Amino acid sequence: MDADGVETHDVIVVGAGVSGIYQIKRLVDAGFDAVVLEADPDLGGTWYRNRYPGARFDSESYTYGYSFSRELLDEWHWTERFSPQPENLKYLQFVADKFDLRPHMRFDCRVETMTWDENDRRWTLDLVGGRRYRSRFVITSVGPLSIPTLPSYEGMDTFDGPSFHTYHWPAEPVELAGKRVGVIGTGATGIQVIAEIADKVGELTVFQRRPNWSTPLNNSPISDEEMAEIRARYDEIFANCAASPGGFEHVPDWRGFWNLTADERRERWDELYDQPGFAILAGNFAEIFWDEQANREISDYIADRIRQRVDDPSLAEKLIPRDHGFGMQRLPLETNYFEAYNRDNVRLVDLSETPIERITAAGIQTTGEHHDLDLIVYATGFDAITGGYDRLDVRGVDGVRLGDKWRNGPSTYIGVFSSGFPNLLMVAGPQSVSGSTNFPRAIETGVDWVTDLLLHVRERGCTRVEARPEAEEEWVDEVVRAHERMLFRRSKGWFTGYNSNVAGHQEGQVRYQAYFGGAPRYTEVIDRAAADGYPALDLR
Ligand code: NAP
Repeated sequence: MDADGVETHDVIVVGAGVSGIYQIKRLVDAGFDAVVLEADPDLGGTWYRNRYPGARFDSESYTYGYSFSRELLDEWHWTERFSPQPENLKYLQFVADKFDLRPHMRFDCRVETMTWDENDRRWTLDLVGGRRYRSRFVITSVGPLSIPTLPSYEGMDTFDGPSFHTYHWPAEPVELAGKRVGVIGTGATGIQVIAEIADKVGELTVFQRRPNWSTPLNNSPISDEEMAEIRARYDEIFANCAASPGGFEHVPDWRGFWNLTADERRERWDELYDQPGFAILAGNFAEIFWDEQANREISDYIADRIRQRVDDPSLAEKLIPRDHGFGMQRLPLETNYFEAYNRDNVRLVDLSETPIERITAAGIQTTGEHHDLDLIVYATGFDAITGGYDRLDVRGVDGVRLGDKWRNGPSTYIGVFSSGFPNLLMVAGPQSVSGSTNFPRAIETGVDWVTDLLLHVRERGCTRVEARPEAEEEWVDEVVRAHERMLFRRSKGWFTGYNSNVAGHQEGQVRYQAYFGGAPRYTEVIDRAAADGYPALDLR
């Protein structure tokens, strides 16, 4: 406690999701006086919030869980290859309880403003509701997909029935039976919801602005025997993830796209299409990501798969993306998504033909007709990666706002620091690999790096750490170069940082929010920085 009565710590972590939980564990173990401030009433972040039907991992559960504790790995039994949201939340609660982390967590603490005091070399954190905290270091673990975005259709507040963003799907059961439900959005979230509720609602109307490529999740239960095999293989599993560009067990097919005949490639894709998870993407030929002809060929293959699964040929064509190739936006994985459109109670409204004019008290008015609805679900995505930072209102040296510095996109050193904002460390931050790879694998790498740096700083008695601007420029150059190599540089969607619902985002402008150089390259860079004694950092 400071003399003025403000609660003060060595380190404050913002956010008790997957990153914040592991971060506080490492800090407590290392003997730091640290707390986590969490806006929600409980821990879990993404898995606390996203309670919509169908929400589940699309990384294999056993590659998503933490790897840091052998005991935890031995105790936890994943019940499905791609575990559903309730189990994921239970897992995170189990971890927090097992390691007694809750005493270091403060809930219902939404940080509103963070202000750097250069004289004192500390951050002041002001919370919604007026409470205040202070700390030498702040670690943000606010998540890349934590700020949901809504469209701004006229009349949204006049709808008579319930309507909410998927992120705010209520914890209490939502009555679906017999209801006329409208879902706006066909990203990874919309696709999960649509497939899950199609046979549970009266009528389902899907409002699709652009179709998305999507392939089968191929989920299955995990038996006791399989779980025992997974446990015995954990070291190998995590080593495989660390060595693969995407942080998964799936590895690219290095035989080379052009070394095989078209028939051989199709044979390979037939195998991959039936494999679980991101096999069809991460286990594919790497050329599909940068060679236009290769990408066209795989896109044609996936389009044929969609045509085989949708009974009405003209409807199938509406579900096939034309403006981007396969893998050029974040790939949603599905279970019976395309089959949902074969049901009599499911209808697709193509907003490219009949855009939404307004929301009415009774439903949605498009330029074509009025759709009577009882419930509207907005699966309209997130202000990805930088949204959480804009919301925090961070003021650094000379009162400069981070949101202003990042107006046209973030600028960081390895996704952890941004110069002008000393002692602020980001876990899974913009321009790290977190947004572009298997999230928790990158989180553990990031948390370990940040914790090791704080130990280094403590040993030397430093009180101020800031990235050198030239090191930041160098990293941003690498981020841009890695991005420009990929064909998806021309796509819309959150990989390029664009969201039509966020003021200030301009279509066609790339915000370079994530690093696409792959997990092994990223780890090599940050490990070298630590081994060399952090030359890119100004340590005082
Ligand atoms: P998203 O991929 O950004 O999709 C948003 C959808 O809403 C798009 O179809 C978009 O259309 C549509 N949309 C946005 N504004 C609209 C408007 N004003 N009018 C009509 N349609 C509008 O968001 P998301 O589906 O929530 O997924 C975001 C990310 O969350 C995923 O990419 C993934 O990384 C993560 N996620 C993960 C899982 C998992 O791990 N299991 C599950 C769900 C989500 P356009 O395409 O035309 O923009």
